[in-house]
Amino acid sequence: MKQDMFKQTDIKTFIIPFAILFIIFAVATFMSIRSYTKKTYDTIEEYSIGLADSYTRRISNSRAATKIITALVEEKQLAVGEIVLQFAGEIEAADLSQLAEKYAVDEINIYNGSGEIINSSSTNLLGQKAYEGHPARLLLSSAQHAYTEETRLNTVSGVSYKYAYVKADDGSVAQIGILSERVDSFLDSFDIQRLIEEFTKNESVENIFFTDDEYRLVATGTPDFAGITFDDEEIHDHFMSDKPKVGKEFANKGLLHVCAPVFFDGEKLGTLTVVWSSEIISTEINRIINDNVFRFLITSVLLGGVLLYAFQKRKLSIEVAFYDRLTGLPNDNYLEEYLPPIIRDCGQNKAAILMLNLSNFNLINLTHGFEYGDIVLKQAVAIYANYLSPVDALFRLEADKFVIVVNDYGDVFELEELSQQILADFNNPAINACRHEYLSLKIAIYELYDPSFSVGRVLHDASLGLDALKNNVSADYILFTHSMRKALQREEAIENALLEIIAGKGKERLYLHYQPLLGVKEGRVIGFEALARMNIPGVGEIPPTEFINIAERRNLIFSLGNIIIEKALKFLKALKDATFHNTFVAVNISGLQLLRSEFVDIVAELTHLCVEDYQDLVFEITESVLVENFKIANKNLQELRRLGISIALDDFGTGYSSLAELRNIDIDILKIDRAFIDKIIENDPLITQDIIAMAHRLNLKVVAEGVESKRQIDYLTKHGCDIIQGYYVSKPLPEEGAIGFLKCYNVLRQE
Ligand code: C2E
Ligand code: CA
Ligand code: CA
Repeated sequence: MKQDMFKQTDIKTFIIPFAILFIIFAVATFMSIRSYTKKTYDTIEEYSIGLADSYTRRISNSRAATKIITALVEEKQLAVGEIVLQFAGEIEAADLSQLAEKYAVDEINIYNGSGEIINSSSTNLLGQKAYEGHPARLLLSSAQHAYTEETRLNTVSGVSYKYAYVKADDGSVAQIGILSERVDSFLDSFDIQRLIEEFTKNESVENIFFTDDEYRLVATGTPDFAGITFDDEEIHDHFMSDKPKVGKEFANKGLLHVCAPVFFDGEKLGTLTVVWSSEIISTEINRIINDNVFRFLITSVLLGGVLLYAFQKRKLSIEVAFYDRLTGLPNDNYLEEYLPPIIRDCGQNKAAILMLNLSNFNLINLTHGFEYGDIVLKQAVAIYANYLSPVDALFRLEADKFVIVVNDYGDVFELEELSQQILADFNNPAINACRHEYLSLKIAIYELYDPSFSVGRVLHDASLGLDALKNNVSADYILFTHSMRKALQREEAIENALLEIIAGKGKERLYLHYQPLLGVKEGRVIGFEALARMNIPGVGEIPPTEFINIAERRNLIFSLGNIIIEKALKFLKALKDATFHNTFVAVNISGLQLLRSEFVDIVAELTHLCVEDYQDLVFEITESVLVENFKIANKNLQELRRLGISIALDDFGTGYSSLAELRNIDIDILKIDRAFIDKIIENDPLITQDIIAMAHRLNLKVVAEGVESKRQIDYLTKHGCDIIQGYYVSKPLPEEGAIGFLKCYNVLRQE
């Protein structure tokens, strides 16, 4: 098939929106992961900077506190020194320790001008002489009054003290010592190392350390490394920036870290580095990825499910709308969509349709059941499909009607050959297991030729082709031609006119002409043959042979026949009204009328319409009906005769019945066909003369049809023919003309 348009759109309608949404969701998921990951890093950075800030604050607090406390301690030491010096001469060692206790200092020593301890709160120091360079000795030799010293170890006790010295006018020096641990305990709450340890308690933080401006590890969460100095230049880079920096590599290790500079009084003290637990971070990032991917997968599956459901539903409804359930073939709706572009294009690309019909298929259903009918159809489809080229397409149009659209072919002979092959296979019992005597395949070949045609018109034409085949026993396929189209159109117009006439509309289109019948012995017109006439506006006169034939084929003859009989009876009444008694009217009756069981009854009812009896009514029938259905026909003939109707056998000599057979038929008149009468002219009159003699022996009256010459009349008169009909006497005449003719002719004769 050229393109399976509905099926193709099907897949697209699912895949495209799904792919678009899938991509959108995938991008959204990727962005979301990125944004969440970034957020995580941002939080880490913010937190680290927060730590650095608080670290900065705590350091400044600690610095400030140290300053204040040192100042206080020193102030106090100096004050105590002054007091001690005031009473230096009077104070005993015991008093000195009391004084130390009172002013909460740990050691008081008094040096003499030569640097020797002359009094002390701790007696074991008495007599000790300050070494060279000792602050006490330095003060003695300087002009300074007091001096404070940084915390240092006592050279004797080895304990760490903070000392202050005050010099008296007499040259003695008071040394006031405070244990440095006492000072430190004030500053404890500001301890930087403790701060670091506190921060490290956050489980996401793996390590925190503070490096001073010389890259020395001042404080660290891993105290073992405290004091070491980073030598690596690369690592220096981390600590150089004046702004917080996030990095993922530290000392050639994949460590997520934030380096935040710490300032005090506008001066950079160093860098606080927070190293994050890579395990916890990667777990967090993985969680974000997993969450998002999971959400993405769930959405995709749900979305796919919904789309698939909608697609399946749509596919199903398309299948119902555009495909035949039994054969799976595209149907008439599909053809309606498929054909227009092919028709439009038929000027460039040759295309044709084959319409295939299984005549009498309904009989299969009736006699074998629908299931078997389905099997027969499938078998037929298999045979058709066998001959499809890839660019051809097969459709099921109706129950037993299929269409093959043949795209691109050589010439019409190719189409005929294709039809012949399909027919041969169909009629071959070896191929078609479902072959039946009464089931026949008929194919109408229709070449697309007019791009302006509608699908309806093309299909209509092709089915007209099939109609033409119906009446043709010898042909199984037909080539639809332009002239055929005209003929079929004409037939259609005639059929439509007949239908309207039967329905009581436009009755004037059907009327009768009457041809006078001359009684030889009587020497006058003794009857008329009623001959039907039809005139359709726009089409013209239609010969009776044509429209009677159509009426017979379209099953309209019975109703039409009744209308004709009625008209003829009215004419008979008119004759009687004009006082022409003993003048009969012969009406042609189709075999199909005669065979209908209700025919006799209907004719019997018409009796009283206009005439009292049927003594002057003749029915003309042809022999074929008698040959084919002798029993029913003869029985009806007997009944008609009982009603008083005479029966004439029309066109005698054209059929196959022999004179001998006439014996068995209930008839009154024999009409010898014109073909024999013509022979009289051809000097071969023998047979006619024999027919007349024979008919007379059977007590039949003889009518000679189609008499056109004086010579024929003479011959017929000589051989005893009873009635003469033909143009020599008169052509068929309209009603008034017929009555007028009757009057003139008979008057003339009598004269
Ligand atoms: P038919 O019954 O044999 O009618 C005689 C036909 O021969 C008539 O043709 C008539 O006009 C024609 N004819 C008569 N004399 C001559 C003559 O001298 N020379 C020639 N050449 N022809 C002559 P028409 O009227 O065309 O009818 C043709 C046939 O149509 C009739 O043949 C009959 O079979 C059928 N027909 C006509 N009217 C009716 C009808 O009402 N019912 C039925 N069932 N058939 C009818
Ligand atoms: Ca006739
Ligand atoms: Ca005839």
